[in-house]
Amino acid sequence: MQNLVNTAVIDAAYFVAGILFVFSLVGLSKQESAEHGVWYGLIGMCIALITTIMLPSVTNIQAIIIAMVVGGVIGVRLALKVEMTQMPELVAMLHSFVGLAAVAVGYNSFLEHDDITGVMLNIHLVEVFLGVFIGAVTFTGSVVAFGKLRGFINSKSLMLPHRHKMNLVAGLFCFGLMIYFVNVEGNIAALIVMTTVALIFGWHLVASIGGADMPVVVSMLNSYSGWAAAAAGFLLGNDLLIITGALVGSSGAILSYIMCRAMNRSFISVIAGGFGTHVSINSDQDYGEYVETNAEEVADMLRNAKSVIITPGYGMAVAQAQYPVNEITRKLRGMGIEVRFGIHPVAGRLPGHMNVLLAEAKVPYDIVLEMDEINQDFSETDVVLVIGANDTVNPSAEDDPDSPIAGMPVLEVWNARQVIAFKRSMNPGYAGVQNPLFFKENTSMLFGDAKDSVENIAKAI
Ligand code: NDP
Repeated sequence: MQNLVNTAVIDAAYFVAGILFVFSLVGLSKQESAEHGVWYGLIGMCIALITTIMLPSVTNIQAIIIAMVVGGVIGVRLALKVEMTQMPELVAMLHSFVGLAAVAVGYNSFLEHDDITGVMLNIHLVEVFLGVFIGAVTFTGSVVAFGKLRGFINSKSLMLPHRHKMNLVAGLFCFGLMIYFVNVEGNIAALIVMTTVALIFGWHLVASIGGADMPVVVSMLNSYSGWAAAAAGFLLGNDLLIITGALVGSSGAILSYIMCRAMNRSFISVIAGGFGTHVSINSDQDYGEYVETNAEEVADMLRNAKSVIITPGYGMAVAQAQYPVNEITRKLRGMGIEVRFGIHPVAGRLPGHMNVLLAEAKVPYDIVLEMDEINQDFSETDVVLVIGANDTVNPSAEDDPDSPIAGMPVLEVWNARQVIAFKRSMNPGYAGVQNPLFFKENTSMLFGDAKDSVENIAKAI
């Protein structure tokens, strides 16, 4: 009876936590409700953790609590220290932990399956095999993504000869090994061989994906880590872990798909890696002369403008220029000038990066528009301020089929009457390609840290 009550209470608690996770995702999908979304997720996770610790099968609560306290302290310290721009790195690192945990759970379940026989044993072995495979791929893939984003692994795609064939052979080999593994009712050597192949496969898969496709990789690894968690849920017989894993897995997959569409990439070609590597980057190309300007001139232009669009990018995040940007927005709007923001789907270093920064600085939501909503308006705009953006405003994405970012939809800022590009130098952006926008007749460069430049303009206005 006691156990029945326990089971009913646990099921109910897991159900509530599952619903809260769904509410959390719904809340997080809109800026206005994002804070509520975070709270739903937090409460759901607290319910999930407390319920799991209370499970009748949990015998060593002290060990779990010690692990949670140690993990919690490390997590809080990391979260307090991490800069917004380092968030994708942190996320990639956290995905690697999920992958590693799934591998550990898989091995543990395999070594403890003595009491299962028949069809259930076959199902269990498939679960172990898939859980370890997805976990291992997620683990090394995330480590490489972390290294690329942190900069200690070259962000260019690794171009091994016959890389697609190698991936295919590795996949087929692991599939064959799984059939053998089930037929012989489990074999630790087969499991170890598959784990090794999967670790190398994960490493190679992400190593062969190049710079500009990294955002998709991060969200794809998010998806993998969800499936790895769901596989662990099957092994542990934990319904909530299955639900949570499926939510993370599917939302990560949907986000990857949306991002691929936004970058005009085929999902398969991104995942297969090496996309865009047939192109030649001609670093000696002569783009002509660029024109420099200063804060006073820009302030003059803005005062005389009727409409202004600001397109922020990674540099605004680095400089933390969102606060002075909001200040000039308020000033210009106070003078009756229309000011709007154009946000590229992959501006910055994580999905929604610019939206978060602008919301933090209290820029009104209704003047922050998506690329598709604003792209046709540049031709009727007097001044565009390109604040620390580069790849996302690069016309060669449209004009140069040989460019590594060819085909990526971009903000067509060059159609405006006057463009001001805020940068510290003529260095390229994340994709490592020069931007012909900076050499166009209607573009002027405002060199310096974006925050200082915007503050100087605010003063001059
Ligand atoms: P980019 O990374 O293309 O360019 C940023 C620009 O900001 C650079 O040209 C840099 O020039 C300038 N900059 C850096 N620091 C400062 C500063 N303190 N003050 C002024 N300028 C500064 O940025 P975008 O946002 O246009 O594009 C994002 C890129 O990142 C895309 O290629 C995207 O694919 C990729 N990416 C996106 C992710 C996402 O999910 N959003 C995740 C990972 C990658 P300089 O050094 O001369 O100052």
